[in-house]
Amino acid sequence: MIHHERLRPPSQDYPADEWNVIEKRFHPEFLAQLETMLALGNGYLGMRGCPEEGGPNAENATIINGFYEARPIVYGEEAYGFAKTGQTICNVTDSKIIKLFVDDEPFWLPNANLLKYDRRLNMKSGTLDREILWETPAGKQVLITSRRLVSFENRHVAAISYCVTLLNADAFIVISSEMAMDGPSARIDGDDPRQTRAFSGRVLHPRTSYAKDRRIVLCHATEKSRLTLACATDSALKTSNSHAYKVVQRADFGQVAFTIEARRGCPIELAKFMVYHTSRTASADELCGRAEWTLDRVTAQGFKQLLASQQQYMDDFWRRSDVWIKDVREDRTKRTTVEIQQAIRFNLFHILQASARAEDAGVPAKGLTGLAYEGHYFWDTEIYLLPFLTYTSPQIARNLLAFRYKMLPQARARARQLGQRGAMFPWRTISGEEASAYYAAGTAQYHINADIMYALRKYVQATGDERFLQDCGAEMLVETARLWLDLGFYSKAKGGKFCINSVTGPDEYNTVVNNNAYTNLMARENLRYAAQTVETLRTIAPEAYNALVHKTALEPAEMEAWLRAADNMYVPYDEKLKIIPQDDNFLDKEPWDVRNTPPDHYPLLLFYHPLNIYRKQVIKQADVVLAMFLLGDLFSAETKKRNFDFYDPLTTGDSSLSSCVEAIIAAQSGDMEKAIRYGMAALLMDLADVGGNVKDGCHIASMGGTWMMLTYGFGGMRDNDGTLSFWPRRAPQENAVLQFTVAYRGQMLEIKISLEKVEYTLRQGERLAFRHETEDIHLTMANPVAVRAVSMR
Ligand code: BGC
Repeated sequence: MIHHERLRPPSQDYPADEWNVIEKRFHPEFLAQLETMLALGNGYLGMRGCPEEGGPNAENATIINGFYEARPIVYGEEAYGFAKTGQTICNVTDSKIIKLFVDDEPFWLPNANLLKYDRRLNMKSGTLDREILWETPAGKQVLITSRRLVSFENRHVAAISYCVTLLNADAFIVISSEMAMDGPSARIDGDDPRQTRAFSGRVLHPRTSYAKDRRIVLCHATEKSRLTLACATDSALKTSNSHAYKVVQRADFGQVAFTIEARRGCPIELAKFMVYHTSRTASADELCGRAEWTLDRVTAQGFKQLLASQQQYMDDFWRRSDVWIKDVREDRTKRTTVEIQQAIRFNLFHILQASARAEDAGVPAKGLTGLAYEGHYFWDTEIYLLPFLTYTSPQIARNLLAFRYKMLPQARARARQLGQRGAMFPWRTISGEEASAYYAAGTAQYHINADIMYALRKYVQATGDERFLQDCGAEMLVETARLWLDLGFYSKAKGGKFCINSVTGPDEYNTVVNNNAYTNLMARENLRYAAQTVETLRTIAPEAYNALVHKTALEPAEMEAWLRAADNMYVPYDEKLKIIPQDDNFLDKEPWDVRNTPPDHYPLLLFYHPLNIYRKQVIKQADVVLAMFLLGDLFSAETKKRNFDFYDPLTTGDSSLSSCVEAIIAAQSGDMEKAIRYGMAALLMDLADVGGNVKDGCHIASMGGTWMMLTYGFGGMRDNDGTLSFWPRRAPQENAVLQFTVAYRGQMLEIKISLEKVEYTLRQGERLAFRHETEDIHLTMANPVAVRAVSMR
């Protein structure tokens, strides 16, 4: 089922632009959505797109990735092994506040007479830019221009340049640069389980605070998770108007108020630098010291330098990662080429903002654009984001996999707790401990173990980073393989096949089922990759092998057992329908009454008790269809089509993780009509609020999925067998041009697909071997290759 766009603000107020998301008029009714869309972040620090003036806000949040408070999970009825400790991301000190007063009148957006309003997320420069012309009630015209950035280069740093110029009169101006710790703001909407948890009391407790001239430092700490945060700001004013300032500082508040006798035409420039440092181990004093060092450095460099380094970072990002399109047929997509280009870049830009500097952390489901899903990390990272990162920013991909490796001790402990061998990665977490309070749609999603190993394999193949495989990957492979072997069993009832019971697959509308096909297929890959890796290490890297044996107490017989389980893995198949049933019982269920479900009763999870959903044949998100994409070479185009045709009408797409995958399989099985419709839903998931909850944060997994849809779906990229290949197929009447770049083993390949030909150019590197369909291509920089494009029948 394809969900439709819910947000279509007037296009004259939100004109399409290839590089910017533009707001030309202040619309209070879109406040919450725009806070999300115009959020800035760098993977460590995130700020929602709220105005500088301290409001109006729907949900003002400043988020530090992984900075959470722990709380007990309270169950009405306890059971053994339930996750005990919830982890909820905190809303930290808001340091970006800059209030403006002209002749004592506050500038407050909803009341202001705005002669000009232009706010834009500038995806080319990585900034949020605003230009406003305000006429005060006394008729004084005030030009306000601001630029905000959260630095990619200096991950602890954000900065704002805020300029005010009086155009037609002199006036007394106050610019108050503030910071405030407002305490908990997490709110909860009725029964929506996707929202974050509300804290009842104070979450961040003051530790130390001080002011040194215009520098203010506030330090807070959580009680239970024992995390400390130092936030420091420095505000510098440049103007030839005469001015003075006053500083106020309390435990939760800091203010530098500049009073200015402003003359007409004489600009006032405020540069504000904001620094955040967090730690589990450092003392409050030490953290404050670190924040000051960072401030010393960036204030010495100045705003221009920060802007320049941001630009350099962005240029480099787009050079590696841009996906470029031309000549899209508007009648098919209902959107112009410019709108589609904007949507593509918007998705890619937000992935960068969610992940770039997530060092020693994961990527929350909403990135750092909102507090929903409590800032937790899910399988979203490995299955939806890592492909993009692996092929465009392999260092970020490595960091994220290394972070999973760091969780291995907790994953081992969790497996022990559940009576299992090996390691069991948490379904949702920040700290590494399982934090999902609903085991049926949480802990039961064992597939996350195989998902992580799947992403590892892709990463190693695409980068050739054998070192990471030896040092970290192999150990995770051994422990996850052990888990699968222990979890499953050889079932007599299934002809002695290896079965895995009581698990939940990606589809959260069918929980705790036997032989979820996705899980079994992915577990099989996991088992085989583990055995193959261990064998390779044994033969070619004996030292690494010995270290692995030492770390895991590996017995030689284990690999044989893994391979036997893999070779005997039960994969359900229905002879009559010639499809893969999602699980053992799926086909026995009564179909969901789609016809009598009101369109506003989606997502079903907000309108029906889980039991109503679980007993019916209805699907939240791609499950078998996802397996057909991830393990694409195991299935012929006909098989993909048959399964897609069967599952498509049963799939609600209630999770944003669905549309992109459905678009890929539709494209791979030749259904371009559906591929485009699902593809557009995925591309516009956040920009047009397809899921209806963009106010709570961007759908980062879907954003990653849009890259997969463009490259694997429409671009025909394949990498299942460890070799990079391209099978671009196009409908004869489709004349769009698609161009993208992939990093492969340190080289950079550009692919351009147009109506007549497919062009391959090596942008970086010596020589790259890959395949165009079945033909081997050896590409050098000097010799690009063009191949005639193949049309679909
Ligand atoms: C989806 C999960 C996903 C989670 C976080 C849920 O609605 O069903 O697959 O991991 O959202 O994005």
